[in-house]
Formats: sequence, structure tokens, C-alpha cells
Amino acid sequence: MLRALAPLLVLLVGLVGLVAACAGEAPAPDDDAGAAEPAATADADEPEASTEEEPDERIADRDEPGEDEADEPPSDPAEVGANELGMVPVLMYHRIVEDPASVYDRTPEDFRAELERLFADGYRPITVAELAAGEIDVPAGTSPVVLTFDDSTREQAALDDDGSWAADTAVGILTEVAEAHDVEPTASFYVNADPFGGGADAETILARLHDEGYELGNHTANHRDLSGLPSEEVAAELAAGVSVITDVVDAEVTTLSLPLGRWPDPREPAYAGEADGVAYDHEAVLLVGADPSPSPFSADFDARAIPRIRSQALDPDDPESQFASEFWLDWLEEDPDRRYVADGDPERVAFPADLAERLDPAHEARAHPYER
Ligand SMILES: [Zn+2]
Repeated sequence: MLRALAPLLVLLVGLVGLVAACAGEAPAPDDDAGAAEPAATADADEPEASTEEEPDERIADRDEPGEDEADEPPSDPAEVGANELGMVPVLMYHRIVEDPASVYDRTPEDFRAELERLFADGYRPITVAELAAGEIDVPAGTSPVVLTFDDSTREQAALDDDGSWAADTAVGILTEVAEAHDVEPTASFYVNADPFGGGADAETILARLHDEGYELGNHTANHRDLSGLPSEEVAAELAAGVSVITDVVDAEVTTLSLPLGRWPDPREPAYAGEADGVAYDHEAVLLVGADPSPSPFSADFDARAIPRIRSQALDPDDPESQFASEFWLDWLEEDPDRRYVADGDPERVAFPADLAERLDPAHEARAHPYER
């Protein structure tokens, strides 16, 4: 049902975004509010009776601390309910603040609660670059989730005097909750000029994030609305965005989050280009809204248009909360065929044979269908 509606959804989101852009709508102070809510979604499916084991119980033992993973035989995909053609939630965060000013903000408590849910439900974080490349190395029986942060605001990453991540920052909270769940923390940060408050320690923060395995991605230098710029200025903004990162760390910047979710016209300069002697090549481009991403091994996947889900609790009185993160995480939980579940072998693409029509033929050689 979702698959059938997806093109309509994309069209609707695009149309509403276009109307907003044509109306000269001023960008919200924080970010990305130009994106439309999905006007319709695939919820005609009845929730199914929960006969499945809880996700935590399906996680293979190899993830237990203290075991030598190298000695473990490959998992049986059927045993862990592997479905590497299932969907992957790519969550979108902006500011993490005590007093949210818009639906794009979350409190530290909200963020902590969402991470607790994700890890308890068997999700394990990967980066956008890993999703785009189909390099998904999470334990058997777990599911990938991508945590993305736009705008490199102060509350996302800051260091205490002793060099540890400040407690109520996004990285501080992620580090703490991940450790409690024996999960390897990671996320993708989309940075602008003067990142993380632009203080004296901005370069140290960038370097630390890179050293700890976080992805640093392009969000342009000055957060301009690319839809209104000539191609040369688009290229200049994107090349300068890369330099914000590569002037400080030896990192490859391979993914882009479009400011306000808006494409330049034409789109090509968003993908690759060069300005002021700096070349860029984005293997993945992130959108704003609205549903979970197809598996990178699915025929529906387009790395240059990866949908993201805004992080927000479901509130029956708030239409803005429909089709945000709590809604979609519930939706993915309702039917195990919807969600990506790993088989623990990153080289193999395992899935129930009856879902084979979802496979992108480009990944045929890695395919491992199994009967259930
Ligand atoms: Zn932004």
C-alpha cells in the first residue's frame, strides 16, 4: 500500500513545497520548515495481531558483551527474521533545547526517550553514507536507523572542560544512552559555516566527531535556499560547505542535506560540481519528509533523494505530528515485513523469498533469499 502511494506522496509533497516557495514564504528561523506534511499516507493496512517475538528477543546472541564474535557461525536468516529489503527510518533532528520554538525542536528528554525506544526496539545507528552505499553492518536480528542533525547548532555538540561531551547535548545524550544499551553510537551531522556555535572550540568539536566515527555532511556554508540561486552560486555554496569540514579534518564529504529541503533548478549542481578550486561529489542527498527510506537494496531506493522523518511524538490533537517519528516507528513495528532486519552478514542481502520482487537487480549477486 505504501509502495503504491509513494509516488503520489512525493508528488504532493513536491507540489505543496512548490506552492510555498512561489508564495515567497519566509524560512522558519530554525530550518527546513518549507517542507510539506504528507497529505496522505498508507495507513489503510489494519494493524496486525502481534504474534511476533519482541524485537529484542530476536537479536542474536553474538551481540552479548564478552563473546568473541569472530568465533560465531553465520546466523540463520530465518531464525532472526532477516529482511534486508525492509525500510529504514532516517530521523531528522534540528535543535535539542529545553524550550522548543517549533515542531523542528526537541527537548533533551524527548531525544533521550526516542533513543531509549529505538535501542530497546532493536535499532542500531548507521550513517547516511553507510545507508547510501549499502554498507550496513549491524548485528543479526537488529535494524538500522539513521540519526541526522541539521544546522550544527550549539546544543548538538559541545565539550565540557574535561573534554567529555556536554551532558545535555545531542552527542552527550546519544553517547550515554548508547553505552547503557551496549550500542555503538553514530550519527550524521550536516554542518554550516561557524559550526556548533562557532566558538573557539568549533574545530576541536569537528575533529572529535570525525575521530569518533560520526559523519560530517554538507548543509551549505550559509544555509541559503538553493531554489532561488543560479547554478554558479549553488556550486559556490556547496563547495564552501565542503571546505567548512575539510579545512579542519581529513574527511570525505559525500552526502548533502538540502537547506529547507529545497532543490536548485536545475538539480545537477547539487549532485556534483566545483567552485573556487574545491570539488564536491554527493553520493546521497537528503530530503525533508516524509516516510521511511526504502532499503538500499530495494528497487525503490534512490540515494539522491532519501526521505527523512521529522522527530516528533504522536499527538492526536496535533495534525503536525501525524506522519512524524512516533507514527512511523509504530507503523514499522506493526508488520515485520516493513522493517529492515539484518542477518548479521554485511556481504549478503538476506530476505524472505516471497519478497524477492522488491530487490534491485543490481544487487542480484549478493542476494540470499530464504524460505520461511
Ligand atoms: Zn537546515
